[in-house]
Amino acid sequence: MFEKSFLCEKCGEEYPTKDIIYRCECGGSLDVKYDYIDIKENFTRKDLDTRIFSHHRYRELLPVNKKENIISLGEGGTPLLKSKNIAEQLGLEELYFKLENVNPTGSFKDRGSSVEVGKALDHGAEKVVLASTGNMGASISAYTAKAGLETTILVPEKVSKIKLEQMKRHGSEIQLVRGDYSAAAEKAWEMMKKGFYLMGDYAYRGEGEKTVGHEIIEQIDADKIVMPVGNGTLMHSIYKGIDEFNKLGLSENTPEMVGIQARGCSTVSEAFKEDSKRIKKVEIVDTQASAIACADPLDGDLALKAIRDSGGFADSVTDRKIRHARDLLAREEGLYVEITSGAALAGIIENLEKFGKNEKVVCVLTGHGLKDLA
Ligand SMILES: [Zn+2]
Repeated sequence: MFEKSFLCEKCGEEYPTKDIIYRCECGGSLDVKYDYIDIKENFTRKDLDTRIFSHHRYRELLPVNKKENIISLGEGGTPLLKSKNIAEQLGLEELYFKLENVNPTGSFKDRGSSVEVGKALDHGAEKVVLASTGNMGASISAYTAKAGLETTILVPEKVSKIKLEQMKRHGSEIQLVRGDYSAAAEKAWEMMKKGFYLMGDYAYRGEGEKTVGHEIIEQIDADKIVMPVGNGTLMHSIYKGIDEFNKLGLSENTPEMVGIQARGCSTVSEAFKEDSKRIKKVEIVDTQASAIACADPLDGDLALKAIRDSGGFADSVTDRKIRHARDLLAREEGLYVEITSGAALAGIIENLEKFGKNEKVVCVLTGHGLKDLA
């Protein structure tokens, strides 16, 4: 609708959005640019007031062109829950959890899947491929099942059985790939060259994930937003969503973005600490938090930029602390989340001195705990 072009964040090259492009020729990630002046005339607070609290209430800011191509399973519009016991234990008065685990397939990935599948239909795709550590594959499988698209998912060997079961149940073809997520991503790229429509952490996925940012801004005047970081797409997207609301005059708030990684895969946090603009690939990934075990994060540089531009910070925590935080969420707050979601809370506990007592802190819980059952 209002999408204008793809812009490479690395070299500045622009591409028309009528073409199917996944990465810039230089290898950089592409970001979808919009005509915000046009959007401002067609999308106001009044529109928001008349729509239900859901993902597609922001449709003018989403790139799916044809209305009939919007595939929804009820994603988004997730609650922001105030912490009771953990906040008290940590001495934080306003700690909130953004419950992305309650999305249709149990993770925030559903927002991106809804948009990616819609775009695949806009482009007339019939068969799609993607590489996934589990959550994305489970999510895409559900949406492509509804859209009627033939789906192949490439997964690294270390993936939870429950996520595999989700993908299979929806009718996707599963191919196990030796190595980590990056190896699966390379293979998916090869299949794209053979005619498959590629899905994954590319420009349109981020467009779907940015509605987490729109929602948080509508729900609370946050000071800090804390989340686990794997490929970096969620971080970049939430920040973009917030920036869009500011551009449209719907908000005047830029919370600090805080990215937490597993110690055994701390690409973005290392670059942040070294004051570097570019993240470095890690050779050996060593973490149980499989949803953020990305050795060569596709949107790592963009996540780093969001953290820096917002005045936030990045850190990494051990698996032991991630597990402890996950257990705290279950025991103290009744929130059964996957291990990766524990990373954000573990990061808050580890860096407690950086959080003001009265600050409004949002901790994003990315996935449901049932996903970790082997
Ligand atoms: Zn480029």
